[in-house]
Amino acid sequence: MTEVSPRQTSDTSQRIAKLLHSRATPIRGQLSVSFEFFPPATEAMQAKLWASIERLAPLSPAFMSVTYGAGGSTRDRTHATVKRILSDAGIRPAAHLTCVGATREEVDAVVRSYRDAGIGHIVALRGDPRDPAQGFTPHPGGYQNAADLVAGIRRIGDFDISVAAYPEKHPDSPDMQADLDNLKRKIDAGANRAITQFFFDNDTYLRFLDKARAHGISVPIVPGIMPVTNFNKLCRFADSCGAVIPPWLAQLFEGLDDNPEERKLIAASVAISQCERLLEHGVRSFHFYTLNRSELTRAICHSLGLRPLENKVLQNGAA
Ligand SMILES: Cc1cc2nc3c(=O)[nH]c(=O)nc-3n(C[C@H](O)[C@H](O)[C@H](O)COP(=O)(O)OP(=O)(O)OC[C@H]3O[C@@H](n4cnc5c(N)ncnc54)[C@H](O)[C@@H]3O)c2cc1C
Repeated sequence: MTEVSPRQTSDTSQRIAKLLHSRATPIRGQLSVSFEFFPPATEAMQAKLWASIERLAPLSPAFMSVTYGAGGSTRDRTHATVKRILSDAGIRPAAHLTCVGATREEVDAVVRSYRDAGIGHIVALRGDPRDPAQGFTPHPGGYQNAADLVAGIRRIGDFDISVAAYPEKHPDSPDMQADLDNLKRKIDAGANRAITQFFFDNDTYLRFLDKARAHGISVPIVPGIMPVTNFNKLCRFADSCGAVIPPWLAQLFEGLDDNPEERKLIAASVAISQCERLLEHGVRSFHFYTLNRSELTRAICHSLGLRPLENKVLQNGAA
């Protein structure tokens, strides 16, 4: 066995202390997380969603957002879910809203109903047609795009407004410059923050951030983190929204189609290391696409240093 001198021991402990310091995660208050859900279509899905909300609420997210189905197909369910997040979970909800297939008057009525229900945050989106191959055509009497919708919401009330951003460019955009122009239009129309489409290459996001700042966009651009639960589904979705699946990710999930438990472990490790690298680059806000599941998102938040507030319980026996 090799002798270890006192000098070496002290060097080693200094190295360990340095390592621990560099790994130290930010404490509560320095980190902001938000969670995205989709409105449940059945009783069983409703129960699953509320079980997840109950597990995630104690992490005190900045907000919980609820998506809006194509063409307003989930209007009532989105509305009911955001209202319940506010009343039962005591968390600030954010309601997604799109322009697809509706007149300005119809969309404005939804915005007013949110205002009247005390929902102060809207994620304003253009949306996609039911058949994406058709391409988006604005409703003749409707909002033309997300920037137009943001301006409309601003006219109705003093909302917190988030919009979408695309580190890998939106598929309808001819180039990144045009996409940044579009993002700038949305911010100039009155949006307070952008939330990105999911991505797996952090450098792409960091470069996008630099470009956006150089473009005069100064609002927070919160990275959207997608914990991978079903790799094949993810590939189909990525294909439709222009997100890139790097070969190393495909390799990691190779051969795991019939092994959900192992997939989950890989998914957690991928998302944790993605978030840790972003943390090292000074990112302090994360938006999680939970797909109405709590387990992975909770594990990732735990690794980021977030701990649940034990006394945070839902009202009205919400679960
Ligand atoms: C965080 C997040 C949440 C989402 N939530 C939902 C949801 O709840 N429901 C849902 O249906 N979809 C949702 N989506 C998907 C979104 O609706 C689609 O990505 C849609 O194709 C674009 O919406 P947008 O708001 O980004 O559109 P916009 O910002 O209006 O732009 C879309 C594209 O059109 C181009 N464009 C827009 N206006 C102009 C113009 N005047 N001239 C030239 N080009 C223009 C832009 O460059 C861009 O490429 C979400 C996406 C993200 C990232």
